[in-house]
Formats: sequence, C-alpha cells, structure tokens
Amino acid sequence: MSDDHLKRLIEQAQDLIYECDTAGHFTYVNPVSIRLMNYTADELIGRHYLTLIRPDYRERAIEVYSRQFIHRTPSTYFEFPAIGGGDTTIWVGQHVQLLFEQDQIVGFQAIARDITKQRDAEVALKRSEARYRSLFEGAIFGIYRSNIDGRFLDVNPALVAMLGYASAAELITLRTPALYFDRSARAPLIEELTRSGRIHGADVKWLRKDGTVVSVRLSARAIGDDRGPLTEYETIVEDVTERRHLESHLRQVQKIEAVGQLAAGIAHNFNNLLTAVLGYTELLLSRNSVKADREDLEEIQKAGQRAAVLTRQLLAFSRRQAPVPEHVDVNAAVRQVRGMLDRVIREDVQLTCTFAPGPALVKIDPSEFEQVVLNLVINARDAMPGGGRIAISIAQVDAVTEKLSGLAPGRYIRLNVSDTGTGIKPEVRAHLFEPFFTTKEQGKGTGLGLASVYGIVNQGQGLIGLDTEVGRGTTFSVYLPAVAQPTAVAAVAAEAAADWPPLPAATAPSRNETILVVEDEDGVRTIAKAILVRHGYEVLEAATPGAACEIFAQHGDRIDLLLTDVVMPDMNGPALAQRLVGLRPDLRVLFMSGYADRASLPGLANPNARLLTKPFRPAALAATVREILAAR
Ligand code: ADP
Ligand code: MG
Repeated sequence: MSDDHLKRLIEQAQDLIYECDTAGHFTYVNPVSIRLMNYTADELIGRHYLTLIRPDYRERAIEVYSRQFIHRTPSTYFEFPAIGGGDTTIWVGQHVQLLFEQDQIVGFQAIARDITKQRDAEVALKRSEARYRSLFEGAIFGIYRSNIDGRFLDVNPALVAMLGYASAAELITLRTPALYFDRSARAPLIEELTRSGRIHGADVKWLRKDGTVVSVRLSARAIGDDRGPLTEYETIVEDVTERRHLESHLRQVQKIEAVGQLAAGIAHNFNNLLTAVLGYTELLLSRNSVKADREDLEEIQKAGQRAAVLTRQLLAFSRRQAPVPEHVDVNAAVRQVRGMLDRVIREDVQLTCTFAPGPALVKIDPSEFEQVVLNLVINARDAMPGGGRIAISIAQVDAVTEKLSGLAPGRYIRLNVSDTGTGIKPEVRAHLFEPFFTTKEQGKGTGLGLASVYGIVNQGQGLIGLDTEVGRGTTFSVYLPAVAQPTAVAAVAAEAAADWPPLPAATAPSRNETILVVEDEDGVRTIAKAILVRHGYEVLEAATPGAACEIFAQHGDRIDLLLTDVVMPDMNGPALAQRLVGLRPDLRVLFMSGYADRASLPGLANPNARLLTKPFRPAALAATVREILAAR
C-alpha cells in the first residue's frame, strides 16, 4: 500500500487515530478525532492527552500507561470518558501501541472508538438485570428457569421455601419431573409449552421435600436468545393450597347456609305446632285422672318434648347471627342441660356425669356449648340401639399430658362423652365431621350434628379428640382453652335449659286482669288463650297486629298485658308493642318466639317487656304472666 493510500485510510477512518510524544503531547490527530472531540486541530496538537480524560479516570490512565511503558507491553486497551471542547463527553475504548526507534520508545499511537452507545446499552442492560434479579430474589411467587431436560438453571428463594428445601443449592440438584405428585401430569404441560411457547395458570400437585402435597399454579414461557431455538423455560409458581382449601370451605359453608335457612323456616312452624300439641296435652293431663289415659298422654308429651329439642337444634344450627362468646363454667353448663339430656335419651340408656373439681371456665357462646353437648349425647344414644351407658366427664388438663396431636400448649377444659355403643368404623371415621354425612337411615340423621360441633369447637380455638373401638364404644373429647376466672361469671344458657324445669306448682289466681293475645298461628293463639282463661284471666285475642290495634282502640284502658308473637306478616311483635306502649306507657309486654335470641328483638330494650321461648309449657306461660303482672 502506498503512503498516499495509507494516509487516506487514516484520514477517512471512522475511528479516532492519533499519536503522542513520550511526554504525552499530541503530535498527530486524524479528522474524526477532531470532529468527535469538538476541538480544532490547533487546539489539539501539543495538548497533553490526560487533559482529554475525565478527571476521575486520569489516575487509572496514568497507571495503565506507565505500566505499559515499564513493561513495554505492545498493546493496551483502556476505556474511559473523554471530554472534548464545550464539555462534550464521549466514551472511548482505545488500543495504545508504543512507538519505537532503535529500541527506544519515542512516543505512542492509539486507535480509539466511540463506544458511548454500546456503553449506554450495557449500563441499561446491567440495570435491568439487577432489577430482574431483585424481582426474582424478592418475589413472593416461586420462580425458576429450567431447560428442556427438566434441569433447573436457577431457582428463587420463594420457591425454595415453598417446597421446604434448605437452600437453592439443594433444590437445584433435582430435576423438575421429581417435583410432580403425578409425573404424568407434566407431559401435557411440556407439550403445550413446545407447541405455543406458553402455559397460563396450569393447576398441578407438587411434592414438598417432606413428601406433603402442595397445590401449585404454573405459568411458564419458553425463552432463548438469538443464538438458538427456545430451549429454556421460565416458570412462575403460585402456591394455591390455601386458596383451594378456602374455596371448598366456602362451598360447604354456602351449602350449610342454604340448609340452615330451610331448617329455620321449618323449625319456626314446627315450634308453633309443638306449642299447641304440648299445651293441650298438658291441659288434658291436668284434668284427667284415668291412669291408662294419663300414661298415654305422658307418652305424647315425651315425644313432643323430644321434637322440641330437635327444633331447638335446628334453630341453633341455622342461627345466622355471630355467636356471642361468654365465660362459661363447663361444670355448671352441663348441670344445666342435664335435665334436657335426660329427656333426650331413652330409659334403656343410663347417663352419668363427673364434674371437674373447681371451676372449669371456657369462653364460648352458651347456646353453642349446649349444642355441642346435645349433639354428642344424641349420637351416643343412637349408637346404642340396645341400650347402654353414656358417661360425661369434665376435667382440667394440660396439653402436654394429652395424647392429641395439634393441641397447642396450654391448659384446657376437656369434656368427654363416652358411650358403650357400636364404635366407629375407619371408613366412617374419615367423614365424621363432614356436613350431611350420616350413616343413619333416611329421616333419622341429618349429618349436621358433628359438623356443627366441629364448627363450634374450631371457632373457640379448641380441638376434638376421638377414641373408638368397633363393638366396644366411643369417646369424643372436646378440648376448649381454659380461661381464668372472670370478675362475674355469666349465667349459662339458663333460658334454653329452663325449658322444662320444675315450676312453682301453684300460681296466684288472677285478679280480673285482661290480656291481649296476638298470634297469627291459630293453634298457638288458642292454646295460649285456653291456658290464660284457665288461670282466671280475661283474654282478648287477635290474629293480626291490625286487629290487635282495633281491639286496643276499644278496650285499651282495661288491658294489662300484651302477649304477642314476634314474627308476623304485616307488622312484627316489637313494632306492635312499641305502638301500643306509646298509647299506654304502663302496658306490660310478653313476647313469644321460637328464636330465643334476644339480640334480634329490639323491642326487648323496653324494661317492661319479657320473652318466652316456644314451645312453652302452660305452667311456664302462667308463671311468667303472673310474675310480670305482680311486679307492677
Ligand atoms: P347424624 O347423627 O345426623 O347422622 P352426625 O354428624 O351427628 O350426623 O354424625 C355423623 C355420623 O357419625 C353418624 O351417622 C354416625 O355414623 C357417626 N357417629 C357419630 N357419633 C357416633 C358415636 N358416638 N358412635 C358411633 N357412631 C357415631
Ligand atoms: Mg348426630
């Protein structure tokens, strides 16, 4: 190549080419250098090269080039920010070669390239890598990269934790197929991934390190670079175990809710009918002295009372208000329901109770606690068709001495209900607490007993233990966290348990008092009237609140007490009471309701009002009415 050619090549090159003397002053610069550095040739020639290097890079540059001079390195590469005229800054990557003349260094020459764009891109890439990394490391989802053979390339901490491994290093030694609970579930995913390059939320079951199953949702895409086909996969793993759990739980709750509504409706009507059945039975009993008749009537009464227990159960089950936990002494609570339990079991079943020494306090809704006892006892009774023994025992225990897994440390009150019945087969055991699971024939079992026991105990942070042997019997143990003695112990389910307590035998006869009975259900109205008339009251009756208002308009001044149903078509009992009390503030009010829930009766805020739960005994109605009127 001729000198001319060479010169043209250098002058037209896109790279910066220049020469310096040994002291570092420019002796030649090509046109591109002049243009890029934004100086004139005159400004550059004679200038020291270090003045073009951004100050923070100068020390590095001196070090690099002096080493080159000392070691006579033929060529050195160095990248730095160069500052030109008017504060122009460009990044250059330069190769420097020493110039020799007879073994003497006479200067150096350099070929440098503007790498600003490339550099910016690198910085951006590094930043985005760092950002991706922190996303990867900090994500709450599991993320991994793997190749087509199922080998892990990278796993993030969330995935390691989700699968219960000690470290990423431990997990990464596995292959992805090993994670599948059912390995055949992987093939269709790989197929989809190879076909479309993506998977959008596939639900599969994986295994944790300890062998337990985790439900995961996978979203994946094939990745690769311009060097070859897409053979790597990037997968996001979401742990949906809890969500699946909640979903199925919700479905069950909805199912129960629907049944609850239905049950409440039926129970409500049933209570009205039972009020009439039991009321008339009791009236007949009280004026019949033929022994055989009395015995038959007593049977009717017993059956009716059992039915009343059932409707109470249904109402409690379907109650939609939140439970109201109180301090409950389990000893006292069991003593209170004892009377009801005796009526529920048959004569061939013997019931014994052993109480804990000292108070056995827990925090629970009293009527829910009653449900628990009632359900366990009814189940025990049903398990002993040929008769047997039911033993209830209450004890204070410590979690550490109980052989029940899952019991959190602490003190508990344990309620055992044991029977000498059939025992429970393993295949039944697995479904015991499921709603609607029953082994009883159609019409006998609802399958809701243990489901509600479970719900109640669970709500109270308790657990249920089970000990059973086929042919020998069963013990259910209910553990509820023990609580310290409160300042005032609330009375337990007194109202509910007081359905059939012994009543004062004689109630004082009426002194010409008048009672207005309002009840849309004919059977209940008639029996209420019959009872009150028998006790010497004058009774006015109305089948609707409207009719009641009319009667009140005429005879208001001589009515002493309003006895009214709560749920009625046009106007409810509390609203009617409010209207009439507005006219006559000294009017006493007694509500009758199948829903023994005071919270749902705003009218009860009135201190002159009381509540009687249906079905009620004639004597209970008479006694309550007497009490209210006597207190005036
Ligand atoms: P139900 O009593 O209406 O059948 P539960 O939920 O109360 O519904 O009980 C579910 C099933 O559990 C019963 O059908 C019965 O098979 C079984 N079971 C419950 N308690 C006992 C017991 N003490 N002895 C034997 N089996 C029982
Ligand atoms: Mg049951």
